[in-house]
Amino acid sequence: MYYDSKLMKQKTLRGKGTYPEKIVRRILTDEGIKYYLNVKSLPGKPDVLIKGTKKIIIINGCFWHRHACKQSLIPSKNQSSWLRRLQYNQMRDFFVLTQLVLLGYDFIILWECEIKNNSTQFLTSLLIDFLKSDEKYSFINTKRKEQHD
Ligand SMILES: [Zn+2]
Repeated sequence: MYYDSKLMKQKTLRGKGTYPEKIVRRILTDEGIKYYLNVKSLPGKPDVLIKGTKKIIIINGCFWHRHACKQSLIPSKNQSSWLRRLQYNQMRDFFVLTQLVLLGYDFIILWECEIKNNSTQFLTSLLIDFLKSDEKYSFINTKRKEQHD
């Protein structure tokens, strides 16, 4: 099952949270996993903290968090000021993630494009793997892609 991007843009406007955030929440709810949202007591107010664990799910917009994908292309107008702003975001992200690791939290970053381009089934297994894993997920540099064949 795939999500139509136009539909997604419309849906983003309604209710709380972006569409990618809602997809993640729905997966967790469907799997019976309890969670907290936008945890104010932790650095960077992480999007999702799994109840009773030190596991965090971070849902990043590709443009604002500088994902190396098509959606993160910088507009040609005012390029240097965009770059400064986005580099600041990147540095802040790095600082926040470092703090979370030092506090003993583990995290997975889900990118907007990743959520849009993969099936719910794939995202569910990705999250289940992360929640079950004893390894430090935050240090695993994986290229996550769904296999279509
Ligand atoms: Zn992306």
